[in-house]
Amino acid sequence: MSTQPVHVIGGGLAGSEASWQLAQAGVPVILHEMRPVRGTDAHKTEGLAELVCSNSFRSDDAEINAVGLLHAEMRLANSLIMSCGDANQVPAGGALAVDRDGFSDAVTAKLEAHPLITILREEVEGLPPADWDKTIIATGPLTAPSLAAAIAEATGADALAFFDAIAPIVHFDSIDLDVAWFQSRYDKVGPGGTGKDYINCPMDKDQYLAFVQALIDGGKTEFKEWEGTPYFDGCLPIEIMAERGVETLRHGPMKPMGLTNAHNPEVKAYAVVQLRQDNALGTLYNMVGFQTKLKYAEQTRIFKMIPGLENAEFARLGGLHRNTYLNSPTLLDGSLQLKSRPGLRFAGQITGCEGYVESAAIGLLAGRFAAAERLGRPLPVPPLTTAFGALLNHITGGHIVSDEEPGKRSFQPMNVNFGLFPPIEAPKSEGKRLRGKEKTNAKRRAITARALVDAREWLGVAPAREAAE
Ligand SMILES: Cc1cc2nc3c(=O)[nH]c(=O)nc-3n(C[C@H](O)[C@H](O)[C@H](O)COP(=O)(O)OP(=O)(O)OC[C@H]3O[C@@H](n4cnc5c(N)ncnc54)[C@H](O)[C@@H]3O)c2cc1C
Repeated sequence: MSTQPVHVIGGGLAGSEASWQLAQAGVPVILHEMRPVRGTDAHKTEGLAELVCSNSFRSDDAEINAVGLLHAEMRLANSLIMSCGDANQVPAGGALAVDRDGFSDAVTAKLEAHPLITILREEVEGLPPADWDKTIIATGPLTAPSLAAAIAEATGADALAFFDAIAPIVHFDSIDLDVAWFQSRYDKVGPGGTGKDYINCPMDKDQYLAFVQALIDGGKTEFKEWEGTPYFDGCLPIEIMAERGVETLRHGPMKPMGLTNAHNPEVKAYAVVQLRQDNALGTLYNMVGFQTKLKYAEQTRIFKMIPGLENAEFARLGGLHRNTYLNSPTLLDGSLQLKSRPGLRFAGQITGCEGYVESAAIGLLAGRFAAAERLGRPLPVPPLTTAFGALLNHITGGHIVSDEEPGKRSFQPMNVNFGLFPPIEAPKSEGKRLRGKEKTNAKRRAITARALVDAREWLGVAPAREAAE
């Protein structure tokens, strides 16, 4: 009996990789790509896997960089995006940058030549019909409006964000807890809380006034014309709030009420910046209400003025742009299937990852899950210790949904980063404890070494030593 096809909607980074993985597993694919019949505000060509902005896949260092590790895991999994990227590399120091046209042409040619792949240039205007029993939707941040509307209707009005207001996320171990302290406002325990769910950074009046002025003076990024969506009042950028009046922030996200400085209980803070745990591992904290359009360098400079964050390391900085992504932690199961409609998977940036490589990696996983299911050989999820598993877990389960603000969406798209991995002790060097950068890099090396062993096992690839023999 011949194997039924899997439909893939969207031939971007994720859809191209998913199609390749399916076809290489022996499963026929029908890939629906709307360009050139219909364009998007960012794509300029009709090529598959078009890079809409930069031509960089970022760091290729698999030892001390999380995206470099993801590259390595994808290469182990015979990724089409990585092999075409490698074949079209241009000089870029430690980064993997590619000739964008050569790269897109190579992906298009490989998919067109594959005997199990049929490419249809058409827009899919609604959810897949019932006879497409297995489908992957990989239509990206600029999903065509009619399909986006159908997804929103099927998943609930607030489940699909069209506007991405992002607050910065900080590595927990870079927060100075001699200055900041754990406490929920009014010590409220709430369902599932402890009364100490937030990290609080106190400011006195002078610090607050200087901070507000820095926000007003700080350099802002300009919106591109395709980003013309108006602000919701509920997610105003912090610098816009600062411009509305010097007291606005003190009555908004920086209000000091219900908080007592554990290090200095006699002195009431004039304003407080709160950070909330962002992942189940407790390694990442997001700055509550701090969505911003400030330039990245300005964010790093200005947010380090906050007492307790002087040495903050950011897992991601804030931003605001048009984006279409699901509230995946509540909607998708561990293998990227819509819980309410098994057989329908999502992949790429629409799931809430961010970046070319991450989108392709989630496409790779969706393709493998769908292929395994079609062939009757269910696949376990990749271990959390791998970059595949860490990223997948962020999307489908690792993110904490706030109990204090029921209904408020807090899940944000994110690049792969070491905060998503289970922590590991830094190995000692010749019996001595390492410090600073050396310690950070030793920890990272330990995480990446563990990841590659576990990724090989999950993929069924021979261990590195055997493979070299
Ligand atoms: C303007 C912009 C700039 C970005 N710049 C960068 C950057 O510099 N570096 C980086 O790492 N990341 C960047 N990103 C984020 C992200 O990495 C890219 O958007 C990436 O292309 C996402 O991959 P994807 O496969 O999920 O979506 P895409 O690559 O966008 O692919 C989606 C595909 O689906 C098609 N499609 C949409 N709707 C339909 C439909 N109804 N029927 C059929 N086909 C459909 C589209 O034509 C497109 O080909 C940027 C995003 C945007 C919006």
